[in-house]
Amino acid sequence: MTSFGFNFDNSYLSLPDALYSRLDPAPVPDPRLIILNDDLAEELGLDFSHSTEMEKSALFSGKSLPKGAQPLAQAYAGHQFGHFTILGDGRAHLWGEHMTPHGTRCDIQFKGSGRTPYSRGGDGRAALGPMLREYLMAEAMHALGIPTTRSLAVATTGDTVMRDKPLPGAVLTRIAASHIRVGTFEFATLEGRDAMTRVLMNYTITRHDPDITDADNLAIAFLKRVMGRQADLITHWMRVGFIHGVMNTDNMTISGETIDYGPCAFMDVYNPGTVFSSIDHAGRYAYANQPVIAGWNIARLAETLIPLIDDDVQVAVQKAEGTVNDFPELYQKKWLSMMGRKLGFKKLHKGDDQLISSLLDWMQKTHADYTNTFRDLTMGVMPSQDSEFRVWYEQWQDRLKLHGQTIDHARAIMQQNNPAVIPRNHNVEMALAAANAGDMQPFHNLMNALKTPYAYGDESLATYQSPPQSGERVYQTFCGT
Ligand code: AMP
Ligand code: MG
Repeated sequence: MTSFGFNFDNSYLSLPDALYSRLDPAPVPDPRLIILNDDLAEELGLDFSHSTEMEKSALFSGKSLPKGAQPLAQAYAGHQFGHFTILGDGRAHLWGEHMTPHGTRCDIQFKGSGRTPYSRGGDGRAALGPMLREYLMAEAMHALGIPTTRSLAVATTGDTVMRDKPLPGAVLTRIAASHIRVGTFEFATLEGRDAMTRVLMNYTITRHDPDITDADNLAIAFLKRVMGRQADLITHWMRVGFIHGVMNTDNMTISGETIDYGPCAFMDVYNPGTVFSSIDHAGRYAYANQPVIAGWNIARLAETLIPLIDDDVQVAVQKAEGTVNDFPELYQKKWLSMMGRKLGFKKLHKGDDQLISSLLDWMQKTHADYTNTFRDLTMGVMPSQDSEFRVWYEQWQDRLKLHGQTIDHARAIMQQNNPAVIPRNHNVEMALAAANAGDMQPFHNLMNALKTPYAYGDESLATYQSPPQSGERVYQTFCGT
């Protein structure tokens, strides 16, 4: 078999054995490639142009792995809806780390590729619909400029997986800066294995923060980096109205990439309490609660680092708390600047916070569409004629003038921060329904539109810009099983 350009350097295998299990993906009876991300393949220095469909199908289903792949399932733990559990890749296999021609190291991982020692009661499988959903969501997030795992391919296996009904089994191949999670650290610290946590931290720093190795307190410097990345990430999510849905600590990466697209969804109507996930009964992971939960998850990471922060536990706790307590303010600052950019502000000035919150209050009260309200403002269209809105609009215009900003300048900023199109649930569900029925065209069309979410002049996006009609509205999303 040709090498396709894979160039593996599997450093995760140098970590203590307890952190992973080496094993191959499950055999597959009848592999078939459904979608391959050619742009991403090219970025990674991979070349499939001379490969047959059969070769690609075999590759992306796990039937024949490329030279240099050393598959493993990662061990991790995690707080799921606040409760600690030992988990691990129950249906994922890491091929290894591919070195791109640009010298970047990235994980290549299968999802839905069979049982592992961490499968617990699960079948280790995934169905086609949820894998295509993750493929699409991750690529849409990337196009929106948001750190995320990427999707390289989806292949069906020929197996049937049993969910509420029999469904075609599928494998997603995804790319990540790494799959190290807050939960990986929680696993390492189990039973007081401080040495393992130290090895994991040093390894993670080498991969994601090699420039902090001279810091006075390495663990605190590391914690601050993770906090900064998470504050940036959640700010992005809030900017585009993304709701992850399962922000368990095992679904929070150290790299700051969005990971594990299960019951995630984009909000149509603006409401801070929006929840889509069918399993999130208490609204723990509601839209507006995401920054709070990110802070909570970071506190769990900080706890694992206590032995590495200082030999004196009290001192260590104090330093960890002092650091973690900065998260809300760190986030708030980033959020405010981001909201300012959504309104075209070059810099924030006194009173901007009020202008932002009164718009959001009005949007909530009038059930305004989150994306389209900002899109209208960006295009110079009045999203509403209501008198309260007009008052706000005048204040906004005055604010721009007062600080010497022309509307054109403001709009240039807004165009980069307010997407013209997002993956709305009803469009995603329609594309997936067609894909499940064997027609991939609607999925390709939607994917295509989502590649250029800031292309304001592009008329072809129009089909995907409308909010759902009453019969199309999606109220609940289900875990990616
Ligand atoms: P998630 O909520 O999708 O991030 O998954 C939480 C945990 O359940 C992870 O350890 C997964 O590997 C595991 N898991 C999810 N679905 C399955 C499955 N069908 N078989 C085995 N393990 C699974
Ligand atoms: Mg997960």
